[in-house]
Amino acid sequence: LAKAEGRNTFRYYTQALTEAASERLETETRLRRALELGHLEVFYQPQLDVATGSIIGVEALVRWRDPEEGLISPARFIPVAEETGLINRLGQQVLERACRQAVAWEQAGLPALDMAVNLSAHQIIDPQMTSRVRRALHESGLSAERLVLEITESTLMTQAEDVLGTLEELKQLGVQVAIDDFGTGYSSLAYLKRFAIDWLKVDRCFIQDLPADKSDAELTQTIINLAHNLGIQVLAEGVETREQLDFLARLGCDSWQGFLCSRPLPPEELAEHLNNRDDEKRRA
Ligand code: C2E
Ligand code: MG
Ligand code: MG
Ligand code: MG
Repeated sequence: LAKAEGRNTFRYYTQALTEAASERLETETRLRRALELGHLEVFYQPQLDVATGSIIGVEALVRWRDPEEGLISPARFIPVAEETGLINRLGQQVLERACRQAVAWEQAGLPALDMAVNLSAHQIIDPQMTSRVRRALHESGLSAERLVLEITESTLMTQAEDVLGTLEELKQLGVQVAIDDFGTGYSSLAYLKRFAIDWLKVDRCFIQDLPADKSDAELTQTIINLAHNLGIQVLAEGVETREQLDFLARLGCDSWQGFLCSRPLPPEELAEHLNNRDDEKRRA
């Protein structure tokens, strides 16, 4: 009996594995097609200055618009893209499109915004990365200091030595660098100094229970103080309430993004959002 059960468990186990593998393969095939057909879109979420309340930049966030399924969120396909290496092509498409978009808005008379683009570990360790970024800047006409490249804290820590060289090259180009999801990995701020980082983005999980959660409040305050001592600016991610924003202002946080201002928007809607804010200011 034990033997039969063992065999059954094994059968169920392999069956589950096969299903997971074929599902992944299907996603991979569909994602490859989506890349070729141009079914990937880029949405943009405003980033604001805490002190002045003005929009200083946007973060580019990829979306997959499937003809049948509708809008698919990156959580569902970025991991597959990373496992299969499709992330390099995907990431390059996003980078090029985001740079062109920043220039297009400016040419349409909107304020010159910073453009933040997420890079995965695969991209940052690609020896071609610096020349790809240089090309995206050159072809779009975006000036380097307006491009912010976001890499997560965990990418930075697991690939530290490989990333260091690329980061130095990128900094030479004049782009800004932000550490994303800060606080979820394990790095010391003193260590961060080596990387000549411009921004720390405090992860949403530390922001969501502010101001009530005392330990999150202290952690955020500590990150802000130490970052400022190292000449690094701090952006709070996932700000959803006025109370959170007021509290972050008291802590001396530099900038923020979150649903309190806006969800990530398609480019036309983001432009509309910017125009409406302008109108409000003129009326005020
Ligand atoms: P991320 O870079 O940390 O981006 C911020 C995420 O938080 C976005 O999710 C955004 O929609 C969400 N968010 C912003 N404000 C709020 C808020 O107030 N409340 C809540 N609950 N969420 C908020 P999204 O767009 O689903 O992206 C998820 C992740 O996928 C990103 O996290 C990033 O790691 C990855 N990703 C997105 N686009 C790209 C890309 O082009 N390349 C790479 N490599 N990764 C990307
Ligand atoms: Mg990001
Ligand atoms: Mg983040
Ligand atoms: Mg994240």
